[in-house]
Amino acid sequence: MNKETIEKLLKDSHLKVTKKRIAVFNVLTSVNEPLSIDEIFMALPMEMNKTTLYRILHAYTSLGLIYQTDFRDGKAYFEFQDKHHHHIVCTDCGIREDITNCTFGGLIPQLTRESKKFDIVKSHSLEFFGICKKCKSV
Ligand SMILES: [Zn+2]
Ligand SMILES: [Zn+2]
Repeated sequence: MNKETIEKLLKDSHLKVTKKRIAVFNVLTSVNEPLSIDEIFMALPMEMNKTTLYRILHAYTSLGLIYQTDFRDGKAYFEFQDKHHHHIVCTDCGIREDITNCTFGGLIPQLTRESKKFDIVKSHSLEFFGICKKCKSV
């Protein structure tokens, strides 16, 4: 994603365009897989304290610009998703695969119908855990 596109995205989301915000977005869009805070931190071209980084990521997630999830390893992961998707993770070796077909949005009408306290669902995150074929054959 080029700088102009990122700037436009930030502006459309009513975020002030700053070098740091652009840099974080740039890291996420150039990798296209879930990254932990530390991985993003290492990939940044400039110094940034982690509180600032966390604030930027939190703003992006709240605005729906990026997907936040976790893979049960105690870390938060952030991913820019061209197309919304989920993942399946091997609990032995940690290898991940994208699940590109998300049909879970279809559950929302039923969910809100049955919920006592909610009638709006804005997003969801969901991951699957299993054993990959390689680990299964060991
Ligand atoms: Zn495996
Ligand atoms: Zn989904």
